[in-house]
Amino acid sequence: MRGRNLAAIVRGLHVIGALLCFCSAAASPQKPEFRALAFYSTNVEPAHVVTGNEGLAFFRELAAKDNFVFDTTTDWDKLNDNDLKPYQVILWINDFPHTAAQRAAFEKYMEHGGGWLGLHIAGYNDESTKWPWFVDFLGGAVFYTNNWPIQKAKMSVDDRTHPVTAGMPESYVAPSNEWYQWKPSPRENKNVRVLVTLDPSNYPIGVKDVITKGDMPIVWTNTKYRMVYMNMGHGENVFGDATQNKLFANAILWLGRKK
Ligand code: ZN
Repeated sequence: MRGRNLAAIVRGLHVIGALLCFCSAAASPQKPEFRALAFYSTNVEPAHVVTGNEGLAFFRELAAKDNFVFDTTTDWDKLNDNDLKPYQVILWINDFPHTAAQRAAFEKYMEHGGGWLGLHIAGYNDESTKWPWFVDFLGGAVFYTNNWPIQKAKMSVDDRTHPVTAGMPESYVAPSNEWYQWKPSPRENKNVRVLVTLDPSNYPIGVKDVITKGDMPIVWTNTKYRMVYMNMGHGENVFGDATQNKLFANAILWLGRKK
């Protein structure tokens, strides 16, 4: 009796096991469309840490919805040939590389067709950074000044035919940010496609640091590379606007899916 019960239980377990296998196979996700790796730092300006965390949460949710892998790291030494190999896109969420080896690996990755999405401070460069390759990569843009404190601003969408601006209105009001002005402006570079610009109707913008005039491209791509730079990224709520969020989503999907 006991033996028969045991045998029945074992048979039952096999059936359940088979069902579980079947279910998990049926529920297993399809192959991810692409793999992205986000570099970020927690020891930077507190407002940039806040944006970083909100950005990671935003892209994690997007990755689950749009079927791509989104890995994250605070270890910038992972900017090396081997660690970058599995990824079609890398992001610099709130920092940039700080060693010659990290810079060299990034150059190689981009020169061989890698994708890059850089936010805010990721594009920062001035006479102290001494990385001419990066200035050229960014389309010649060198940081010149910024408004302070952070402010909302009207954005004008220059080019609504690009995949990054798909579904965007002609203009929208962006959440508060520290907006950078660049000299030279990347618009002067024939390889650059400016996608979004700070609307001149915002001038003067700032209280302590005021910008009164000048060209302020906010989102652009250097068509020589698979890259998008977006100036958003200071403080909370950068990822709190559904319209602007389309830009972030479009950008990573375009970079990741681009053949
Ligand atoms: Zn900032």
